[in-house]
Amino acid sequence: ATPTALMVGTGRGAQLGILIKGPEVLENTRKVDTVVLDKTGTVTTGRMTLLAVHTADNADEAEVLRLAGALEHSSEHPIARAVADGALEKLGTLPVPEDFANVPGLGVQGIVDGHAVLVGRERLLAEWAMELPAELARAKSEAEAGGRTAIAVAWDGEARAVLEVADAVKETSAEAIGRLRALGLTPMLLTGDNRAVAESVARQVGIAPEHVIAEVLPQDKVDVVKRLQGEGRSVAMVGDGVNDAAALAQADLGLAMGTGTDAAIEAGDLTLVRGDLRAAADAIRLARRTLGTIR
Ligand code: ADP
Ligand code: MG
Repeated sequence: ATPTALMVGTGRGAQLGILIKGPEVLENTRKVDTVVLDKTGTVTTGRMTLLAVHTADNADEAEVLRLAGALEHSSEHPIARAVADGALEKLGTLPVPEDFANVPGLGVQGIVDGHAVLVGRERLLAEWAMELPAELARAKSEAEAGGRTAIAVAWDGEARAVLEVADAVKETSAEAIGRLRALGLTPMLLTGDNRAVAESVARQVGIAPEHVIAEVLPQDKVDVVKRLQGEGRSVAMVGDGVNDAAALAQADLGLAMGTGTDAAIEAGDLTLVRGDLRAAADAIRLARRTLGTIR
């Protein structure tokens, strides 16, 4: 394509709510055949709510909410927001943790009121040699079978509760994924979340179960993109989180949600200003048209 055509394409992108870093970005779009979509905040709204608290015999609900809520109040993860807001709604106030650490892709840990508290994936508890008792394991499987995310709570060496949180699929996601497919692209879902939850979201938006890549740690998302490239695919990645930045940079085309983090926006080649996934299909169609591959 001529430089003029590329400039026109860039200007048209701005009208569609697509910010393009430079005209050369459109060239990278030519070969793209696979679109890897982050789940939380990209395909789903990322606004989660706390739906249920399941306690074991060794804890009551108010104490679970107080200790888990206090710890999650220090985290900015969408799940943490849901837990802290749910706890604040029930209890009015929360203690300030004496110690706090994020464990990326797994959860949070810290000290609240002298108790060593963990909130996160079952795998985080396993790292401290704790496991869920049968009743909590059952609550977790039931929640996940229903497409909800189950979070474990433990303190002082014992698993105490399972929290259910859920996040709605964006209204425009199914249509957007239909449009990507109509362009001949293969959509895939990539997430750190549990497989059952990921497959439930995939089903709602029309992504095949064999194209769901779940339970991927944040630092491993970039390796998934590399692996797909190694299989000969040309990969577009769409994401919003700090944990998507390396994968966005590695992808042949990185699309950042404008509603996402600065790290993702900096790493991407394109920004979908309104956070509407349909703009991803617009961007790829625009690039092809600008390059003269379709009319
Ligand atoms: P995604 O790839 O969908 O954006 P993340 O990689 O951020 O998800 O997180 C993966 C999983 O780790 C979450 O689904 C959740 O089970 C757990 N997790 C991460 N952070 C937290 C937290 N602050 N509180 C509870 N669970 C967490
Ligand atoms: Mg995300």
